Amino acid sequence: MAITPQHDRNNTMATTPTRRHFLQSAAGGVLAAATMPTTGLGSAPRFDVVIRGGTIVDGTGSRGSRNDLGIRGDRVAAIGNLADADTKRSVNATGRIVCPGFIDMHSHSDSSLLEDGLAHSAVRQGATTHVIGNCGSSPAPVGSPVRLAGHTLSTYGDFLKALQKNGTSINVCGLVGHNSVRRAVMGTQNRQPTSVELRQMQDLVDEAMRSGAVGLSTGLVSPPGIYSKTDEIVALARVAARHGGQYSSHIRGEASTLVQAVGEAIQVGREAGLPVQISHHKAAGRENWGTTGKTLPMIE
Ligand SMILES: [Zn+2]
Repeated sequence: MAITPQHDRNNTMATTPTRRHFLQSAAGGVLAAATMPTTGLGSAPRFDVVIRGGTIVDGTGSRGSRNDLGIRGDRVAAIGNLADADTKRSVNATGRIVCPGFIDMHSHSDSSLLEDGLAHSAVRQGATTHVIGNCGSSPAPVGSPVRLAGHTLSTYGDFLKALQKNGTSINVCGLVGHNSVRRAVMGTQNRQPTSVELRQMQDLVDEAMRSGAVGLSTGLVSPPGIYSKTDEIVALARVAARHGGQYSSHIRGEASTLVQAVGEAIQVGREAGLPVQISHHKAAGRENWGTTGKTLPMIE
């Protein structure tokens, strides 16, 4: 749940977010629009929080409307005129938009969430879910244990446990990074893995997925991921697919090789059988402008 400034040209005040206009940690996370009843108060309801006077945009695509919203526990319990409702806490959202929390699909807040789980930089933008571990980089697995924010990390499971132990104000979905996996097994060597090394990498991805990772990410423009061939990525993505995971890729090219790079990401998805999310989809360089005219139809 996020309360964000309403962009109203006639009301410049409303475009300046202040701390009090954000619902602090909003009952701990995203409140799905699908759970919202459209109306209905029984007798003498009691809410934990009532957000009053905001424009409610429920995320279904329908137009926003001005209303009050009552929260009980971690659920949106009522939307309607709650002017007289009994509540522990009341938030004035006049001139603000009240909407489901945003999902940031491309965050690199892995370490910072471990340092400071309050994640003000996310919450204050209305983001209540971060997908971390992007671009092939996650704090674990590592070849030999490392200390990070007071925790000793070796496997991806160690990292997720540390995050859980510290707690975070936002929901977190973790991707296991291919660069981290490859570095843990092969260092930064510019060569192809042996069958034993590939097996070890698959085992690390398997451990991550069993521990709660939501998929595999690659960063194919930086070492050591840049040294990998498509077959290696397909072999690892298949492990993520087995656990219902997704594949997120900082693709191999963002300029003259954009078409091939998008093609590779799609190939991984097809051959490994999992959904693909492309990061950094752009045609950099004047001579490549317009290439998205080719790549967007490939994606669609
Ligand atoms: Zn990236």
